[in-house]
Amino acid sequence: MSQCVALTGSTTGIGYAMAEAFARDGASLVINSHLSDDGGAAARLGQLTECHFVQADLSTVAGAQGFVAAAREQLGRLDTLVNNAGTYLDTNFDDLTEAVFDRTFNLNVKGYLFASQAFVKGLAPGQENPSIICTGSTNSLAAEKNSVVYDTSKGAVLMLVRNLAVTLAERGIRVNGIGPGIVETPLSAKGLATPGVRPALERQIPLGRIGVPDEIGGAAVFLASPAARYITGQMLYVDGGILANQMSWEPVS
Ligand code: NAD
Repeated sequence: MSQCVALTGSTTGIGYAMAEAFARDGASLVINSHLSDDGGAAARLGQLTECHFVQADLSTVAGAQGFVAAAREQLGRLDTLVNNAGTYLDTNFDDLTEAVFDRTFNLNVKGYLFASQAFVKGLAPGQENPSIICTGSTNSLAAEKNSVVYDTSKGAVLMLVRNLAVTLAERGIRVNGIGPGIVETPLSAKGLATPGVRPALERQIPLGRIGVPDEIGGAAVFLASPAARYITGQMLYVDGGILANQMSWEPVS
């Protein structure tokens, strides 16, 4: 039986690539954005599998609950929820505002929690291999200068994954995370376009390059699959070696 998968924030970037990987694996999909699907993501995925688009703002509890309910209605049931919709709004530390904090946490943390709650409440007793996947980041573990709000939100995602894994294990629900490193998407585009940034980053990534969204999708398919049935509470970092790296003694030329 093919999996029924709902993915938040999945019309572009990493979410779209995960959706495409699930589609190629034969899953039926519901994708999402707070905006309309002007780029035709659902139509493109619809050439591979059954795919529906549900517009909903995942930064509100009502939006998160509404998305999960609508997704379940479209597919009849949900086996996997991918919490992926996230944002990065940090400015210099001195210029941070309450709005930056609230908007970041509402989407990156609150949306994940209440979408997960709605997903769990709608599972049928004995449903096979249900699982939740949350997109964290290498920033769940390692800090970046002038990124305190985003980093704190992604640190929260790590504990959300661990807590929900422990809380939901007795119901047979697995909860894992994926921690991308630096990936070429609309979210990272502006930073990567800043002169000098790309080579500076590439020098520090052991695999020597920025990741592409396609390189994240396979990890999501694996974590949702029966092959991962004994894996819960883990964050799988897909980062080209960033977190494994120590400071380098190679002199700067
Ligand atoms: P992106 O901006 O390309 O995609 C984000 C998606 O979320 C889009 O479909 C967008 O429409 C949607 N979205 C935005 N606000 C939303 C809202 N309020 N409600 C519903 N949907 C909304 O970003 P991305 O780089 O693909 O990031 C996806 C996830 O990966 C985020 O959680 C991000 O923090 C994480 N991440 C990204 C990188 C990177 O380098 N790009 C690295 C680590 C982690």
